[in-house]
Amino acid sequence: MGEKFNRKIVLWCLWALIVPAGLVIVYRFFPPSVADPWNLMAYILFFILMSLMPMNINGASTFLVQWVTVALFLKYGLFIEMLVSQLSMLIVLYRIRTNEEQSVRIPFNSLMFFFVSLIAGLAFIGAGGQIGTLEMSHVILYGLIFQVLSVLINQIIYHLYDYTTGGRSKFFSVDAIWDFALMFVIFPFAVALYLFESHIGIPALVLLGVPFFIMAAVMKKFTSSEQVNIDLKRAGDIGHQLADRLEANEVLDQFVVEVAKMFKVEYAYIVDYRDGQQQMLRLYENNQLQPREIESLPYNRGVAGHVIVTNDSFIFDEKSQWADYVTGNLPEDTQSLMATPIARNNKTEGVLILASKKKYAFAKHQLQILEILSTYFAVSVEKAGYMQKVIAKSERCGLTKLYNYRYLDESLESCIKEMNEGRLEQLSLVMMDIDHFKSINDRYGHQSGNDILVQLADILREEFGDEGTIARYGGEEFVILLPNYSKDVAVLLAENLRKRIEKHDFVIENDLGEDRSQQIVHITLSIGVSTAPDDSDEGMSLIRNADRALYIGAKQAGRNKVAAYVK
Ligand code: GH3
Ligand code: MG
Ligand code: MG
Repeated sequence: MGEKFNRKIVLWCLWALIVPAGLVIVYRFFPPSVADPWNLMAYILFFILMSLMPMNINGASTFLVQWVTVALFLKYGLFIEMLVSQLSMLIVLYRIRTNEEQSVRIPFNSLMFFFVSLIAGLAFIGAGGQIGTLEMSHVILYGLIFQVLSVLINQIIYHLYDYTTGGRSKFFSVDAIWDFALMFVIFPFAVALYLFESHIGIPALVLLGVPFFIMAAVMKKFTSSEQVNIDLKRAGDIGHQLADRLEANEVLDQFVVEVAKMFKVEYAYIVDYRDGQQQMLRLYENNQLQPREIESLPYNRGVAGHVIVTNDSFIFDEKSQWADYVTGNLPEDTQSLMATPIARNNKTEGVLILASKKKYAFAKHQLQILEILSTYFAVSVEKAGYMQKVIAKSERCGLTKLYNYRYLDESLESCIKEMNEGRLEQLSLVMMDIDHFKSINDRYGHQSGNDILVQLADILREEFGDEGTIARYGGEEFVILLPNYSKDVAVLLAENLRKRIEKHDFVIENDLGEDRSQQIVHITLSIGVSTAPDDSDEGMSLIRNADRALYIGAKQAGRNKVAAYVK
């Protein structure tokens, strides 16, 4: 802040010392001779029109006004050229807004234009150039000196300034090369304008101006349609990437990051809208996803609220346009905003907000592309949710929601693979079977038996959910895979479980009894444990060993026991 403030003061002081006095001195030494004030007025009007036409070439806004300033110089000399350059500078600064403060840009650009004009003009005069001459070769030779020096000095000053303020832009940047290239396109126009106007007067401005304006408009159209193509292609790529994601969370992460990169914004947000509330789902700030939690808000608050209420997408070019909607969640330095509803089946389910520190950061076609992207996104989230359900269904048992045999089998194989590759040291497998479960079914009914299985599954999840994989192996048999657990520890855990179940009150509704009263039932478990690589280093034999321990060591030994496999 301090440094920026100092720079502003230094620039304004330099400006006050140099520019006004400089202009007076130039006027004293090189007084302009204006024989035809109406022509000069027409020139200036023409020039202002020209300055109002920006052209976006290669991503940089280039103002093709130089041909008029060169013609003005050739006709009226240094002083008029200087005044008009200063005027053009003000118009240009007003037209291209950046996030840099105008109060810094005005003195800087004014000084720069002053020196560019002065040095190029003095070089022209020093080399023997004549103002107002109509001799063709003289105009071309000396005009070229003036023009080349203008572009060169502009580059040098800009580069020096950039260097002193800590920037490290390349001297021969793409923008600089464009400037030089354009100079050679523009120069013949400048000479033609000057000579033509000197011969036929004001109609020359119209005759040369019309094709020039048309060319500028065509170029603008061409470069913007090229940008639309680039953006559309990028949007298509993002759509494909999203379609490949199987998890809703991955879709969210990827989408917010890719969209922020595509539109080159500092901030991007996805807001979820349901039950009259809006909740921040993803927050992308300063090139990364931020874990910051933001409290949910009523649906109609803030920028997202505006989107939800109007059900429309929009662009705001600068802060003052959206300041009314502020909720305090957008960073202080935000200027431009672009936001669109995320809708599914014509119902708004969320809002996507992109925010930039720059003013006028977004073009209209980008909003349309954002709308397309938000549709891709909504479809991808829906698909991912659906896929997750299908996968969960195929992996889990419908009654207890524990993993099923198929999943256990895959999980066991991948653990064994990890062990063979040295990424896992050992693996214990705990298998259990409820004792005399058939008699429980017989006494209380099959439904009550199911209720007990569900309650047992809840206890297993509570005991082992964080440690391993719990699966329903068969009817009333369960298996727990415990990666990195030794046999001793696994036996200890199994023993604790056995004791807990033995004491646990399972509550059922007796569906065979008359009154369906609640009843407390007790069950016991017989448990077998085997461990890899101690007992075996193969998945199937690990199961077989645990099964054998269960039947021989626990069931046959009287049930309600834990037995470890012994070779
Ligand atoms: P033990 O294991 O102690 O030898 O006796 P058990 O009565 O439990 O015998 P076994 O393991 O051979 O029989 C399993 C019984 O569990 C058979 C069946 O009645 C019951 N069962 C299996 N799957 C289910 C189920 O999904 N729901 C209900 N309610 N009962 C089941
Ligand atoms: Mg059984
Ligand atoms: Mg049993």
